[in-house]
Amino acid sequence: PASDGKTFFGHPRGLATLFMTEMWERFSFYGMRALLVLYLISGGPDAKDGSQGGGLGIPQGSALSIYAVYMAMVYLLAMPGGWFGDRVWGPRKTVIVGASVVIAGHVVLAIPGQTFFVGLAMVALGSGLLKSNISTMVGHLYNGPSDKRRDGGFTVFYMSINIGSTAAPLVIGGIGQSVNWHLGFGIAAVGMALGLVQFLFGTKHLDPKSSQVPTPLSTEERNGWLRKGLFWAGLAVVFYAVIGFSGNFNEKWLLVPLGIIGILVPFVVLLRIKRDKDLSADEQSKVSSYVWFFVAAAAFWMIFDQAGSTLNVFAEKNTADTIFGLSFPSSWLQSVNPIWVLALAPVFASVWVALANRSKEPKTTAKFTMGMVMIGASYFIFLLPITLSSDGTKVTPLWLIGIYCMQTIGELCISPVGLSVTTKLAPAKYASQMMGVWFLANTAGDSVVNLLGQAGADLSGKGVLIGEAVLATLAGVIIFLNRKRINGQMNDVN
Ligand code: GLN
Repeated sequence: PASDGKTFFGHPRGLATLFMTEMWERFSFYGMRALLVLYLISGGPDAKDGSQGGGLGIPQGSALSIYAVYMAMVYLLAMPGGWFGDRVWGPRKTVIVGASVVIAGHVVLAIPGQTFFVGLAMVALGSGLLKSNISTMVGHLYNGPSDKRRDGGFTVFYMSINIGSTAAPLVIGGIGQSVNWHLGFGIAAVGMALGLVQFLFGTKHLDPKSSQVPTPLSTEERNGWLRKGLFWAGLAVVFYAVIGFSGNFNEKWLLVPLGIIGILVPFVVLLRIKRDKDLSADEQSKVSSYVWFFVAAAAFWMIFDQAGSTLNVFAEKNTADTIFGLSFPSSWLQSVNPIWVLALAPVFASVWVALANRSKEPKTTAKFTMGMVMIGASYFIFLLPITLSSDGTKVTPLWLIGIYCMQTIGELCISPVGLSVTTKLAPAKYASQMMGVWFLANTAGDSVVNLLGQAGADLSGKGVLIGEAVLATLAGVIIFLNRKRINGQMNDVN
């Protein structure tokens, strides 16, 4: 990699560039996310009594579905994002385009008016373009899989994500919730702009591979994609024009199809890889083992991603906004998960190393079981403060801090482990697309929540929460019971 001899915590200097860019991107992403559902319900029938208005006044059920669709699309779009990096613009340029679209999206959100959902779609699209490519570029800084600093590099990178995510709710959440929603969204735009400037100044430190298009599209392929794209876009325009002009349009016409796409695409993508005749027997077996982890991860993210929706609304409405005599806006509790990550990640890393030194490191199946049980248990525990607050009493924020602690332990068993196992189990042919496939587990999980809501279930009701907790725990138990079979399918990977 290009180097002027300077390093960043012993890592190539380019890691600092990617660190700063991702930190600011996550700052804008999680800052807006902390406000999203609160803004959607504010001023409407389900807003907290006496809370500031100025939001969209949407009923809570719809707001929770809209949030789930937004999250599902962010992760779905990581796949075409990776494709643009691979085949059209190269990772560096794709990140620049993505960051610019994110900035523009937040600017649209910052302007009060009817364009809120256009801004939201732009943020999802821009994040999709940016997220997978920036992770790819971290990989480029190290010479092949043998560079021993690689895992450490990704750990430093994960820190940048969580530093940005910790600061975001404190700044953007606090100002948006207590001063003005749109000012909050505007600060998100400024954050991403700072990230883009950092990226442009630091470009010279990146590996030259980051500017190359690894497998460029041929003119023929390009025309084929353009034709297909225009066909589907045209079909969608005609479909929605007919619904719109006949006066039948309502949100369901967007939320239900996007929910179905969010389940169908992950299913079809996995099936196509699994059925690919080009794969060797070893690769096919590894893909079979991957399906178990993927399905469990979908159940994991289904609950985990509700931090910004169900738990955020519970914090706003049913949780006291003081702790140890200090008062704070409810969205500040969105910082608790990344703070737990920063505190617990080093502990986990050293425990894995200590166990590995005694050749007792738990297998991926064991880590997944533990993660699934933790996320399921966190929702069983959540039933207690819900019950305690059902008569209007405000419960202490310590409940949520504890729930986030359990979820973070789960996250540290699933997220880094899942990323690493994704790259190790990937068939050679799909190596560069697999990151995007892993993010589809989030898409599937979030889409289940959205479709439950669209089917009329009360997403913050105890029935749904118990169902989700049972499902996640069950997924962990199923992995545990089948561990021998899965470990066998994984062959040399563990
Ligand atoms: N907090 C991590 C991130 O933002 C993990 C997100 C996830 O849901 N996969 O990158």
